[in-house]
Amino acid sequence: MSTIALDTAVLPTLQVADLHKAYHGNEVLKGVEFAVNKGQVKAVLGPSGSGKSTMLRLMALLEPADRGTISLNGTRIGASEHSGKILHHAEGKLAVQRRDIGMVFQKFNLFPHLTAVENVMIGLTNVQRVPKVEARERAYAMLTKVGLADRDGHFPSELSGGQQQRVAIARALILNPQVMLFDEPTSALDPELVGEVLEVMEDLAAAGMTMIVVTHEVRFARRAADEVTLFDGGVIVEQAAPEEFFENPQHERTKKFLSHVH
Ligand code: ADP
Ligand code: MG
Repeated sequence: MSTIALDTAVLPTLQVADLHKAYHGNEVLKGVEFAVNKGQVKAVLGPSGSGKSTMLRLMALLEPADRGTISLNGTRIGASEHSGKILHHAEGKLAVQRRDIGMVFQKFNLFPHLTAVENVMIGLTNVQRVPKVEARERAYAMLTKVGLADRDGHFPSELSGGQQQRVAIARALILNPQVMLFDEPTSALDPELVGEVLEVMEDLAAAGMTMIVVTHEVRFARRAADEVTLFDGGVIVEQAAPEEFFENPQHERTKKFLSHVH
């Protein structure tokens, strides 16, 4: 008797292969290979201008790749290929695929004319056609999870940067994404507000959320990440468990980068 193990759990939740992107002839992504598995947290470190945000925007299907593939649970998203020609999906199809991928930006991008709870529920009412009463209840519950139960009626201008970023996290989470992408979520915050956002992210990680976090926060990477990655010059240079990455980096570029952040 033979046992054939078709273990679908080994398929990465989100994976990119040979990802390329250029702007006006300037090659920014030069063949990125990267994957995150279910429940895994990957921290991405790297110098400014190396292409980290571009990689996340492509993964979130906010921009088309020039070449390479993006896959969610083993299924290609964003584009298909026919006889060697890449066909990017139409906007309607992209919009559906994007729901599985939550993104949090450095600048929170909240709607200034909507309250905190309205900013969170708008994805449910506009994208998923959830009735308003139910959407408001779910949004309020999500705000409670990020510690903002008492700020539901506040406008973004009445919230601190840390609170606004937590609203942005709640807004992404409410759509129940399979993976969350964070692009330097604490870089725009005053130092004393960084902790409250990292705490929410650590809670999320502990709850089993699949996450890719571009960050300069070494402490977060050490505590919450399963693996830490150095991204430089449009490619992944090194990837290792936090201890290994910080204590015993293998590549010169990683050593040099860490000498600047430590
Ligand atoms: P990082 O997030 O690592 O700082 P980015 O992905 O933001 O890097 O940018 C990498 C390079 O790509 C930079 O040189 C930047 O100027 C360029 N770039 C990014 N987005 C665009 C764009 N929309 N148009 C033109 N150039 C861009
Ligand atoms: Mg960036």
